[in-house]
Amino acid sequence: MKKIEKILQKEELEKEDLVYLLSLEDDDEIELLRQKAEKVLFDFVGNKVFYRGLIEFSNICTSDCFYCGIRKSNAKPSRYSLSEEEIIEQAKQCADLGYGSIVLQSGERSDEKFVSFVEKTVKKIKENSISEKLPDGLGITLCVGEQSEENYRRLYNAGAHRYLLRIEATNPILFEKIHPPSQKYETRIQALKALKKVGFQVGTGVMIGLPEQSYEDLAGDILFFKEMDIDMLGMGPYLVHNETPFAKYSDYYEKNKEKIYKLGLKMIALCRIFLKDVNIASTTALEAMHECGREDGLSFGANVIMPQLTPIYRRKEYLLYEGKPCMELSAEEFNISISNKIASIGRVVGRDLWGDSKHALKKTESK
Ligand code: SAH
Repeated sequence: MKKIEKILQKEELEKEDLVYLLSLEDDDEIELLRQKAEKVLFDFVGNKVFYRGLIEFSNICTSDCFYCGIRKSNAKPSRYSLSEEEIIEQAKQCADLGYGSIVLQSGERSDEKFVSFVEKTVKKIKENSISEKLPDGLGITLCVGEQSEENYRRLYNAGAHRYLLRIEATNPILFEKIHPPSQKYETRIQALKALKKVGFQVGTGVMIGLPEQSYEDLAGDILFFKEMDIDMLGMGPYLVHNETPFAKYSDYYEKNKEKIYKLGLKMIALCRIFLKDVNIASTTALEAMHECGREDGLSFGANVIMPQLTPIYRRKEYLLYEGKPCMELSAEEFNISISNKIASIGRVVGRDLWGDSKHALKKTESK
């Protein structure tokens, strides 16, 4: 029996197994990994794909992450914030399209004006009887960065019940290399803990294919997700943005594109196999690298898609990296194209549902 088959038969994978599987290059072996992940997905989660309409409501950011196109030191994008009315309109459209949940994402800010705006907007969206098919309103996931526990509590009490905060890299040395000294690894860990304490279903994730990132780092990321008992994962390949300090890695990135793409898919498969019942998003960054990125992500074990619901005239100002896809596609057009893609790989869409992760639901049931 080949080494990969032996590993995939194990009940519990160890770190060295994860490292080995991440290093697979042979397409037939990667296919074995994919099949295993798909089986775990069907056994533990099912074949439904859940949608979260993504509303990038502001690109104003106080952080200066070395990789990110909306970092505060980039003077190129014009900075915007959608009004409450604009956000509610997009949320309504989302409900009309049968997406049971939204993600409100923005640059990082923790000033009172911002936090009370998000709080108020979340309340409004929840109060609105947005669709008769959603008796409890839309499910709301927030992705608005590091905040104090008190702020997290306010946002939770307003009615959001899921929160995404990527750790970006769980090796503290790598984390330090990709962030300025003012952004601390420990603060991020504390923020993740605070989110859990407040009661959010918590999602995190990393960028895959960062310069100087090793397979050991990525295996460590997977162990971290387990240890933190996270409910959801949003991971994607790292992509270069030319107006960032990391533009210097453009050559490295160009040379390794294919490898990074495959690594992104292998990470999804391994997280599915290792964590079993969490929600995993097939992210936009995958599609930015490959036109089949979203469906590839799904067939490697992801079960969540985040269609763009940022108004088209703002999308070009929310450029985290070069080559962001779907810049001109209306929500309706995207809906048709993604529905066809999902059907083409034998999966079904979970319409008008919040689609919480089985992992999170299990925790509430046992309370
Ligand atoms: N300010 C929010 C949202 C940030 S953008 C927060 O901190 O949670 C959402 C994610 O985009 C980030 O967490 C990061 O992982 C990803 N991202 C940013 N720049 C990227 C790049 N150049 N390539 C790939 N992903 C990137």
